[in-house]
Amino acid sequence: VKRDLEALTAREHDLLVVGGGIHGAAAAWDAAQRGLAVALVERRDFGSGTSWNSLKTIHGGLRHLQRLDLAGVRESIRERRALLRIAPDLVRPLPFLVPLRGHGLQGREAFAVGLRLYDILGLDRNRGVASDRQIPAGRILSRRDVLARVPGLSGDRLAGGALWHDAQVVSSERLLLAFLHAASAAGAVLANDAEVVGWLRAGSRVTGARVRDGETGIERDVPARLVLNAAGPGAGPLLRLAGIERPAIPLLRAVNLVLGRAVVTEAAVGGWSAGRLLFVVPWRDRSIVGTGYFEAEIDVVSAAAAFFDDARRAFPFTRLDVEDVTLVHQGLVPGRDGGASLWTRSRLIDHGKEDGVPGLLTMVGVKYTTARALAEEAVDVVVARLGRRLPPCRTSLTLLAATRPPGATLEDQVRNAVREEMARRLTDVVLRRLDLGTAGPPETATVDTVARVLAAERGRDEAWIEAERQDLAAVYEPAVRIADRMTGRR
Ligand SMILES: Cc1cc2nc3c(=O)[nH]c(=O)nc-3n(C[C@H](O)[C@H](O)[C@H](O)COP(=O)(O)OP(=O)(O)OC[C@H]3O[C@@H](n4cnc5c(N)ncnc54)[C@H](O)[C@@H]3O)c2cc1C
Repeated sequence: VKRDLEALTAREHDLLVVGGGIHGAAAAWDAAQRGLAVALVERRDFGSGTSWNSLKTIHGGLRHLQRLDLAGVRESIRERRALLRIAPDLVRPLPFLVPLRGHGLQGREAFAVGLRLYDILGLDRNRGVASDRQIPAGRILSRRDVLARVPGLSGDRLAGGALWHDAQVVSSERLLLAFLHAASAAGAVLANDAEVVGWLRAGSRVTGARVRDGETGIERDVPARLVLNAAGPGAGPLLRLAGIERPAIPLLRAVNLVLGRAVVTEAAVGGWSAGRLLFVVPWRDRSIVGTGYFEAEIDVVSAAAAFFDDARRAFPFTRLDVEDVTLVHQGLVPGRDGGASLWTRSRLIDHGKEDGVPGLLTMVGVKYTTARALAEEAVDVVVARLGRRLPPCRTSLTLLAATRPPGATLEDQVRNAVREEMARRLTDVVLRRLDLGTAGPPETATVDTVARVLAAERGRDEAWIEAERQDLAAVYEPAVRIADRMTGRR
């Protein structure tokens, strides 16, 4: 995967994808695999937006059952299956356990019916999935069984537990890069640090984009027959730039807390806070608690501090201490009802049809889990608009290679991350290529080595290194500040 800005302008692409989050990456791979000439531009780093902040759960859609959205359940089950099939090295089943107390929607009876229905809806959930990646049927556990599985859990009013399996992506960054490697191998032209700052137009039609190189400031015209806006929370501003004044998609700020210790080990455990079901999820030798939703305008530290209180209420058995928090995940996700609740289903907008601006499509994605499916829907429309006869989508069946930058030493791996995977900044290497700081701050010696090799590769000086170090430190800052705030240190 090489950054070649000249290749962006060298021809008219069939499709220009704007945004290198999971939705853009999946779309670039799908379109390139079907045989389209594809370019993708990302203003910062691939996967550095909302996609970097996931709870890592590949949802099977049980939540959709609450709203009787059976199509939503089926889509999630299909997509969980697709990811277990195409990325077995990165995605694996994970048990989820919700302790049940009392009756009603949070009680044993409702969950028993729900799990049975869910099982029936997911009868084909393991088709084509390797035997060690299969999802067993859900079931109701006895009170005793729940207490044995969750040490320290209160037995007060405990009636039993609901147990089902979803999947977990061990490294959401590497899975996203796996999509991009596949896209690149199929001929897609990819560039990070390349921001869309304007549209090319022929009358009302969008015919490409003006792309600014973040390093030199040079702007280039990238012509394309169709453009797919996959800019996540950046999608709205891009539409306004195109003169599309549809009501803005309200955004919510979603927050997770990464903990420095494993407070659960075998299963993700559910807990209620203010009527919402939260989960504490085992991840590597740690845990992540998620997900809290707040208005978009709230500052991250306030959101994280409020969510810490929620988490403590939901999971008293974990004895959460604010010093446990090593990293705060936060990102903007689509909301509805003016931002009062989460948007539940992804949506493709064809601006030719809906806004009189042909040539432009937008993906409004709500889950990492279903990104591949929304990408398929988008590329189906792209192929139809281009009037091409191409093979159908195969991304749900094609194995993705789970690679890493090779090298016997950290130095070699950093060099390869720069040369082969377009890593440009310290955060790119530490957070998204070599997985050195994904769970909390890396060792100073590690950062020193990465910074030194990276600067040498990229011909940068000490001042650059210092600025990069500060950018990296800022990633961990909210975790430090909530501890300060809650312990009254500041
Ligand atoms: C705390 C949290 C927990 C979550 N947990 C889960 C989970 O467990 N499971 C799950 O399935 N989903 C989860 N999600 C949701 C999931 O992370 C998102 O739905 C998904 O990552 C969105 O991907 P995206 O590609 O649409 O957006 P993004 O990842 O934000 O990608 C958009 C990209 O576009 C780029 N961009 C923007 N403007 C421009 C421009 N002008 N030019 C070029 N590039 C541009 C941005 O830099 C960005 O990289 C979670 C989200 C959050 C915040």
